[in-house]
Amino acid sequence: MNSSILITGGAGYIGSHTTLALLQAGHEVVVLDNLSNSSRESLTRVAQLAGRAPQFVEGDICDAKLLQSVFARQPIQAVLHFAGLKAVGESALKPLAYYRNNVSGTLQLCQAMGDAGIYHLVFSSSATVYGEPSLVPIGENCPVGIPTNPYGRSKLMAEELLQDLARSDNRWRIAVLRYFNPVGAHPSGLIGEDPRGIPNNLLPYISQVAVGKLKELAVFGDDYSTPDGTGVRDYIHVVDLANGHLRALEALERRPGLGVWNLGAGRGYSVFEMIRAFEKASGLSVPYIIAPRRAGDVAECWADAAKAEKELGWNVKHQLSDMMNDAWRWQSLNPDGYRSANDLDNIV
Ligand code: NAD
Ligand code: UDP
Repeated sequence: MNSSILITGGAGYIGSHTTLALLQAGHEVVVLDNLSNSSRESLTRVAQLAGRAPQFVEGDICDAKLLQSVFARQPIQAVLHFAGLKAVGESALKPLAYYRNNVSGTLQLCQAMGDAGIYHLVFSSSATVYGEPSLVPIGENCPVGIPTNPYGRSKLMAEELLQDLARSDNRWRIAVLRYFNPVGAHPSGLIGEDPRGIPNNLLPYISQVAVGKLKELAVFGDDYSTPDGTGVRDYIHVVDLANGHLRALEALERRPGLGVWNLGAGRGYSVFEMIRAFEKASGLSVPYIIAPRRAGDVAECWADAAKAEKELGWNVKHQLSDMMNDAWRWQSLNPDGYRSANDLDNIV
């Protein structure tokens, strides 16, 4: 039996694109997901694109017995760990759920991996761990900040847990990937980001305004000390991000210990630039109002992505126009996300 890669959270936004990239690269893939923020339909579509399906286990990373049985059932060579909760605002209302899923879940997973003799792990972290950057672009050697919310703190705690684990036992090989702002969708329009309820993030919000589901965008502040006054972020196409995980897995074969890599495009765009680029891609106008700054937002944040290029042999291939075209294709073909599944026959 060929050994497989386990992808926790593989039915979610980034996990589904990475599952597809791994299948296309010839890997055997097992997805473990409790579907708390996703649906099986994403994996049906991944299978359609890849021409074969990943194995799917519905369950929770906090379930030690389940993890033990997954690892006992088949040889697993490495784990890509995406599963977790990610909504900043919700994390302030439900901190225990965030610490349970993101910190205890990571601990449970590592315990089960170690017990099964599996030591290769790629972890989904976030640029949020840098807090308010004193300097941009942000390199991996910038000190981590003090995240302003439980979500950010849970990612930092998980990173620290992994640092201690790697220090304690040199069999562990861990890649901590700090994502900047993932956007866009697979160019087929079959898989993409499917937020539940009103989106928190900029591009899904813009897309839903354009498709008529939301009235207008609130631009959170136009008085930052940035070129046009609006917040600047490093947007990265989700397909590039997915490929970064393949490069990280390969790096684990070569290098011991724990490494930290930024995955970003290495340049920033403002909210106004994002609106204009989206309007160009969709041919639609995006009504907006200027609203007060959102609590906890930083003015600007973009990556120095040189370390990932040098050490992982990874860089981004997609431009802003690709991000916008692909986000719009996904949104317009799937106005209700995966709930539009009945319309699938009309898409392909
Ligand atoms: P997502 O919500 O689309 O995917 C996460 C998946 O994990 C979902 O399918 C969900 O059902 C599953 N899940 C959650 N808790 C689980 C649990 N306890 N057991 C099993 N499955 C569970 O989110 P995403 O955008 O794909 O993010 C993936 C990872 O990347 C997360 O860890 C997130 O914190 C991190 N990240 C995301 C962003 C972003 O902007 N999307 C930025 C930085 C970091
Ligand atoms: N933003 C906005 N309106 C929204 C959502 C986001 O103006 O409805 C801005 C936000 O202030 C930030 C940028 O868009 O400057 C990206 O926000 P997002 O939540 O997507 O990412 P994050 O802030 O987590 O980097």
